[in-house]
Amino acid sequence: MREVALLILGAGPAGLAAAIEARARGLEVLLLDENHGPGGQVHRAVGGSYTPARGSPGADQAREGLRLIEAFRACGAEARFGASLWAVEEDRSVIWSEGGVARRARAGVLLLCPGAIERPLPIPGWTLPGVMGVGAAQTLLKSAGLLPEGRAWLAGQGPLLWLYAAQVLARGGRIAGILDLSPPGGWRRAARHLPAALTAPGYLLRGLGWMARLRRAGVPVIRARALAAEGGERLTHIVFDGRREAADLLLLHDGVAPNTQITRAIQGCAHVWDEAQASLRPVLDPWGRTSRPGILVAGDGAGIGGARAAALSGRIAALEAARQLGALTEEQRDALAGPLLLRRAAELAPRPFLDALFPPLPAARIPDGTILCRCEEVTAGRVRAATALGAQGPNQLKAYLRAGMGPCQGRVCGPAVQAVMAAARGVPPGALEGLRTRFPTRPVTVGELASLA
Ligand SMILES: Cc1cc2nc3c(=O)[nH]c(=O)nc-3n(C[C@H](O)[C@H](O)[C@H](O)COP(=O)(O)OP(=O)(O)OC[C@H]3O[C@@H](n4cnc5c(N)ncnc54)[C@H](O)[C@@H]3O)c2cc1C
Repeated sequence: MREVALLILGAGPAGLAAAIEARARGLEVLLLDENHGPGGQVHRAVGGSYTPARGSPGADQAREGLRLIEAFRACGAEARFGASLWAVEEDRSVIWSEGGVARRARAGVLLLCPGAIERPLPIPGWTLPGVMGVGAAQTLLKSAGLLPEGRAWLAGQGPLLWLYAAQVLARGGRIAGILDLSPPGGWRRAARHLPAALTAPGYLLRGLGWMARLRRAGVPVIRARALAAEGGERLTHIVFDGRREAADLLLLHDGVAPNTQITRAIQGCAHVWDEAQASLRPVLDPWGRTSRPGILVAGDGAGIGGARAAALSGRIAALEAARQLGALTEEQRDALAGPLLLRRAAELAPRPFLDALFPPLPAARIPDGTILCRCEEVTAGRVRAATALGAQGPNQLKAYLRAGMGPCQGRVCGPAVQAVMAAARGVPPGALEGLRTRFPTRPVTVGELASLA
């Protein structure tokens, strides 16, 4: 079997910066990503189909991304794109599929940088064609230059919703309106974190800039409590707080959460519920070390921190990997990492403010008839009924219903099922054991399995 010193999953800011740092310390690096090029979510297709004009939303970030991608291309790491990782074994062997063939390599150190996933926002009718996530729409914008057509509505909460709206307007697109579903009192909740957030004011100023652009363009921003999508073959209307409006496209968003599908499936890799971010994250030390020797995590997969913090975490974890592999002494690692740790702390200073301002929407609001698990078509009402019968959490629920057991393996419905069950039991979501994941974390064909032999 192939042996590699440092195997990195993910070519977002964390994985790219880690690869550059590790190569500078002389390590052999193999990087895998299922995308077809480097950049991850934030720098997807930068320099290609996604090249925002100077001064437009995301332009500064895109320039940073381009510099990172160029440095990565020059660093000498081996990169395999279109490579989807689906198993990590006891001895840090990693299995992935690439072009219909499964491959395996054993890592001296494994650094996981799988990024974030968009939290689902289940509403009545969200399975209709014409309803999708803001994150998916932004992926189409970045990778194919696609803008929404017809009467496009955005709904939910979270910074990405405002950023995407501003990006659409900057490219000459149109938005029918934004439905802000966040509960009132956000600024009051976040106020005590404002002094810390003002130490890195760039985040706040950027957000206020997106909102101002929407105001200038006259996009209606409507506060609403309840929302439903209606239509026969596809979406035709949205209904909110007693109003009914024609709609061709509805884009939903409820923030992002760490992508822990792989780390949760690794035996003995401890996770903790992060109250502020209302999500599970792996238990890590400042170097990104998990509770499993030789396995590290960096970037948004460790907790949402944004692109710059992700890149710094990637570099810090790479220095620790270099120490573990004998390329640096502990003193050398500490000296190199000192300034990076300080810069990361500065980048993370606004997080508590953003987390308090943009909490996930309350699960108790989801009507009973709403589908939560799209793969198995399980509604919120059935989840509540099973909870009343005694199901304690998402794992026990599998014995009652098939929620979380379809092809997505709970990637989409997991957080919603956990939140609905917790609300039904009157406890915080963190009081419930999160959905356990199992390898293979992606659907794998028999042919791919056979190719391993
Ligand atoms: C949909 C979406 C859109 C976003 N857009 C923005 C934005 O425009 N601006 C912004 O500031 N922030 C954005 N964010 C937040 C942003 O993702 C992060 O702050 C930043 O990109 C984190 O960097 P990262 O390196 O940790 O992860 P990412 O950039 O997400 O990179 C993770 C990489 O891991 C790969 N990966 C994950 N699992 C596997 C697997 N099993 N096999 C192979 N590859 C895998 C992914 O393909 C991805 O390329 C977005 C988040 C989401 C979920």
